[in-house]
Amino acid sequence: MQVFNQVQAIRDQVSEWKQARLKVGFVPTMGNLHAGHLSLVRLAQKSCDKVVVSIFVNPTQFGPNEDFDSYPRTFEADQQKLQELATDAVFYPSVEEMYPNGLKQTLVQVPADLTGLLEGSSRPEHFDGVTTVVCKLFNMVQPHKAVFGQKDFQQLVVLKKMVAELAIPIEIIGAPIERDSDGLALSSRNQYLNPEQRSIAPKLYESLQEMAQQLINRPVNFAELENKATARLLHEGFDKVDYVKVCNPATLRPASEDDKTIVILAVARLGSTRILDNILL
Ligand code: AMP
Repeated sequence: MQVFNQVQAIRDQVSEWKQARLKVGFVPTMGNLHAGHLSLVRLAQKSCDKVVVSIFVNPTQFGPNEDFDSYPRTFEADQQKLQELATDAVFYPSVEEMYPNGLKQTLVQVPADLTGLLEGSSRPEHFDGVTTVVCKLFNMVQPHKAVFGQKDFQQLVVLKKMVAELAIPIEIIGAPIERDSDGLALSSRNQYLNPEQRSIAPKLYESLQEMAQQLINRPVNFAELENKATARLLHEGFDKVDYVKVCNPATLRPASEDDKTIVILAVARLGSTRILDNILL
């Protein structure tokens, strides 16, 4: 497994693979890899001959009071895990390599009807940072396919929109959420939780599962269900509930009774740690 730090070097490698008619898959990450990230690599390996994983903690998707500086950076351990999976290449650029003209630069911006709500309402510039860096990574690596986790459901919808509207010739694949044995969705930020918070955290998924059960027996009042789940989460010990919303999975707008598929999206806080989760029905 080779590690590439320079844009030109990873481009040359991928170009060589493409000339040999090999299918190239790509998994963008911010590192601190856990079983969730590794499941994305395995999924990419199923339909691609070569898989590139990028590790880049992208400064432009963090807000001013967020955890950019303290975000866990564990390159040695990440490299080991990727090696064990027989990953073909790691793209590990510096901030200067990614943003040679500084962080204020051309933006890729998906309209606010998808990016201004849910995660976007409490993190106003987050998705501009994500779409810009992913678009750059796509132009740098130029894979055939890219895999993203359904754990960040809104991110997946936003990136699919970007690829469709900018006619980027890359297939986007969504991967299921990997969970701990108690149901908590794996996340690099779970390690910020103290033991008491860690024991409360799985109750978010429990609440979503309970909502899902009730949604199967429709008709139900969505708003009432959301309010009950919010109250339950606060009662269970979460410090704040950013949102619990029953949405249409394509538009991310509130679901209507006629929607055939529904996604329940939720974020609740334990201290300053935001626990994200969702269930697609
Ligand atoms: P991150 O390093 O947190 O930016 O995540 C990189 C990719 O891994 C994103 O596509 C995430 O959606 C995905 N991911 C993170 N956690 C999980 C998980 N528990 N299950 C599946 N995919 C995940």
